[in-house]
Amino acid sequence: MSNFDVIVIGGGAAGLTAAVSLKQKNANLSVAVLEKLDRVGKKLITTGNGQCNITNKNLSLEFFHGKDKGFCQYATENLGNEKIISFFEKIGVEIVFEENGKAYPMSYQAGSVVDCLRFAADSNGVNTLCSHAVLDIVPLKNGYLVKTDKGDFKAKCVIVATGLLSGGEKVGSDGAGLKILKNLGYKAEPLFPSIVQLKTKEETPKKLKGIKTDAFVSVYDGKNKIAESFGEVLFTDYGLSGPAIMQVSRFVGKGDKLLTVSLDLLPQYTISQLTEMLLKRAKNLKNRPCEEFLTGMLNKRLGQTILKECGISLSQSVAEIEGRVEAVAQKIKAFNFTSNATTGFLNSQVTAGGLSTNQFDSKTMESKLHKGLFAAGEILDIDGDCGGYNLAFAWTSAMLAAKAAARQVEKK
Ligand SMILES: Cc1cc2nc3c(=O)[nH]c(=O)nc-3n(C[C@H](O)[C@H](O)[C@H](O)COP(=O)(O)OP(=O)(O)OC[C@H]3O[C@@H](n4cnc5c(N)ncnc54)[C@H](O)[C@@H]3O)c2cc1C
Repeated sequence: MSNFDVIVIGGGAAGLTAAVSLKQKNANLSVAVLEKLDRVGKKLITTGNGQCNITNKNLSLEFFHGKDKGFCQYATENLGNEKIISFFEKIGVEIVFEENGKAYPMSYQAGSVVDCLRFAADSNGVNTLCSHAVLDIVPLKNGYLVKTDKGDFKAKCVIVATGLLSGGEKVGSDGAGLKILKNLGYKAEPLFPSIVQLKTKEETPKKLKGIKTDAFVSVYDGKNKIAESFGEVLFTDYGLSGPAIMQVSRFVGKGDKLLTVSLDLLPQYTISQLTEMLLKRAKNLKNRPCEEFLTGMLNKRLGQTILKECGISLSQSVAEIEGRVEAVAQKIKAFNFTSNATTGFLNSQVTAGGLSTNQFDSKTMESKLHKGLFAAGEILDIDGDCGGYNLAFAWTSAMLAAKAAARQVEKK
């Protein structure tokens, strides 16, 4: 049976960072990464549409979520971008920040981030064992027995970085790590998909399939606004997609309530400005059929749907609807849908919920239940908004775990 100082379970964003950081801290440590897929970083390579949105300029707490989101503050703010940038600089990834705050590798290739992590792991002497699925972790008197489908390993410390359910099994996300820790007595917050498309109760999006438009998106629970975002919305055969929808999807992801997703299609105008504009149009275009009333102002098919939703027949003449333009303005400012479902974990970018963070130390990521057992990345009950936050937490939580595990092995 092979013995290691530290075994990192999972060769994803957090696991690879932890393994490289361990060797950077102390080159003499024996470190293994056990990855169940045939290659490491299979999810990482798909991130940011293949470009890897590696972090964000502003990592403040408002962009993170979880039962106790303050848990991530030490990692994301105290270590933050300074440590992320210097870690990646050392392994060859230059980071560039865009005006909107999102950061990418200078190459804009997620594959190059995986390559640099892999190369750093290999050249620093990390034992990367792919096609090794961890089945169980057994606490021993002085460390851990890690059982895999290819045999057993022993380690003084283990770092569990197996992620959760987002992206599906082809990228290694089946929640196996969480099950193993639950068997060891760990509690977890309920899992639900976030940064994901929304299914709507209405069929209207299906009719608008393929249309993209900018909108100010608000999510209401009854009369209470609970989330908002601005950006591109895409209508699809199941409902709504696009960055602005993904950004607010966490609030629908729990699926426990029917919420209203309201699209303001022309947020730059107030309702009275828009009504005035439509009145002017109604006068200018009075001889045209309603079919053409909003053409040149909104996407044609979208405009026609808005009119139909206001009970206006497209064959009517514009002159006939002058008295109804306020209702049209209202519909443009609040094109509403109802939703309590997403397209699920497979299509989501992050899994909300996970290991309850009160069982871990936020400065070291060490378990309070088992000395020498650490967790990092998405498996913990921390998730971020769309914009580089989830990877930022994966990198920084892994660095903290690596630092503490290295220290612990050195003391033994
Ligand atoms: C399509 C997509 C795009 C995304 N884009 C971005 C983005 O641009 N920016 C951003 O910040 N976030 C993005 N995310 C989220 C981000 O990728 C994750 O939050 C991050 O990868 C989590 O890192 P992790 O190491 O905790 O888990 P993962 O990266 O999921 O790694 C876990 C690893 O553990 C392995 N594993 C699991 N179980 C076992 C087991 N039992 N034994 C051995 N190995 C196991 C898995 O195979 C996997 O390799 C995206 C996610 C998706 C799905």
